[in-house]
Amino acid sequence: MPDPYVKERDRSRIPERFQWDLSPVYAGDDTWEAAKRKMRAELPSIASWAGKLAESPEQLLGCLEHHSLLHKELTRLACYAGMKSDLDTRESRYTAMDQEMSRLASDFSTLASFIEPEILRMDPARIEEFLAREPRLGAYRHVLDDIVRNRPHTLGESEEKILATAGLMADAPATINSIFTNADFPYPEITLEEGTVRLDPAAFNLHRRSRDRESRKKVFAAYLGKMHEFRRTFGAQLAAEVRKNMFFSRTRSFGSCLERALNRHNIPVAVYRNLIAGVRAHHRTFYRYLDLRRRLLGLDTLHYYDLYAPIVADLDLDYTYDEAAALVLESLAPLGPEYAQVARRALSERWIDVYPNDGKRSGAYSNGSVYDVHPYILLNFNGKHDDVSTLAHELGHTMHSYLANQSQPYALSHYSIFVAEVASTFNEALLLNSMLERETRDEVRLSLLGNYLDNARATVFRQTQFAEFELRIHELAEGGEALTGDTLGELYAAIVREYYGQEVGACVVDDDVKAEWAYVPHFYYNFYVYQYATSFIASTALSERVLAGEAGAVESYLELLSAGGSDYPIPLMARAGVDMTSSEPLKAMMARLGRVMDEIEEIALRLGKLK
Ligand SMILES: [Zn+2]
Repeated sequence: MPDPYVKERDRSRIPERFQWDLSPVYAGDDTWEAAKRKMRAELPSIASWAGKLAESPEQLLGCLEHHSLLHKELTRLACYAGMKSDLDTRESRYTAMDQEMSRLASDFSTLASFIEPEILRMDPARIEEFLAREPRLGAYRHVLDDIVRNRPHTLGESEEKILATAGLMADAPATINSIFTNADFPYPEITLEEGTVRLDPAAFNLHRRSRDRESRKKVFAAYLGKMHEFRRTFGAQLAAEVRKNMFFSRTRSFGSCLERALNRHNIPVAVYRNLIAGVRAHHRTFYRYLDLRRRLLGLDTLHYYDLYAPIVADLDLDYTYDEAAALVLESLAPLGPEYAQVARRALSERWIDVYPNDGKRSGAYSNGSVYDVHPYILLNFNGKHDDVSTLAHELGHTMHSYLANQSQPYALSHYSIFVAEVASTFNEALLLNSMLERETRDEVRLSLLGNYLDNARATVFRQTQFAEFELRIHELAEGGEALTGDTLGELYAAIVREYYGQEVGACVVDDDVKAEWAYVPHFYYNFYVYQYATSFIASTALSERVLAGEAGAVESYLELLSAGGSDYPIPLMARAGVDMTSSEPLKAMMARLGRVMDEIEEIALRLGKLK
């Protein structure tokens, strides 16, 4: 059923129950203002502990507790300003509040910057002695461990000063790349059926999905062709980024850039390498996907430019928000009554700002940082199937934050990015499962399964292929090889051709692909993309266990969410039953893909879409 409010752009006409109630955070802007003034006056108090942390367990505990308290309140202030500003980005008062909070946060981190070096200078035996003498310090054991394990990568005071100053140059490659691609790049114009189109990244994303084969071929050739013309400049940008990573990994005595990047969340490099080896080892599953796509599109040969064409007719199903909420709630039932009860609160107690309206920030997010209240979700609900899925996704983040905030002290409540997308994609998996259970129409089932499959390709296979490219270019540079637009292009094309099985005829990867790396901003995020793949794999493995009704699976999953940031991601996940250092989770995910493809084939045959 179409939703009556998705087209309403005037916020005042949308019923209150679909809007955030921010009053539990601050009663109003005046209360916020007063709290902020008080906070500004209190911030310098943290400096009174400088030079005293090693004196006694009480001093160390006092400092960590005070820091945690100030950080918590500062975050609450910042969240209120940020959320207000997101509701109306045109309102300069809220932009100013938001900016003021960024300044305050940066002042605070400068004031508190003595803490880590002081703890690092302490003898580990002394820290252990403190922990034994003051039991309340136990709540900070993980925080202390996280600081102390960086000891081998911390330098003397004067060297640290040089590295901090070098930081002034560190953003240059990413900044130049961003300005070049977003502001200056001469995106090509091409003529398609619908008229002349300027192919910027958004238009490229849209038109590469064209049902008309000639169009999508043209779109790929024009877009990547233009990137290729500028490969030297793009190459110099990416090479500079890689050299920056090398500079910091070498000065901080890491064995490699990969080691440094993964050290942040204490992820073993084996997790990264196993992902690449594992995805490559499962190439047969991927070739089967490519062949299924080829047959569903009715092609003799699949080309790289055919990968985004929809394999099934887009279904124009409409949902009201209340229908979407009911579907999502129903899908979460396998997680038990307590989970469902909190999810119901999120939906009914104005944790969610539902509809798009004039001035509101686009996209969707969950903000779980107001520790003492509850998480908030921003949506731009449009009444389509994707929006139902987004609600399930964001509710996953919200439940993760809620459970972590309930169970952990503030200092341990923040979960790392490595586990963040597990909770969200887990809920997407539950939603898909429950929609398939209630759906009997073949066309709809085919569309749901087809979407899932394309999503798996983009999240697991494509991101792993990116992760491999990222690793290889760093290894080349570390081995003393020069990176240029041409060498990057040759390497990229070779990797894509291997993944897509060009040699065995699974997919023809045309020469245009040589420039595709230049289009990926994530290569400036320092080994980030692999986490899209690992999160998807982990959540698939976890949800498979829950949906199979395995004993203890729900409990151990909820424990993972409740654990927040109380330990490093890999041991946390291992306790929940997914060992990310083994090949089992990937195997479970590939088995699921196999079953999805079986079912797609069965339906497509029945509908006469396959021969
Ligand atoms: Zn997310």
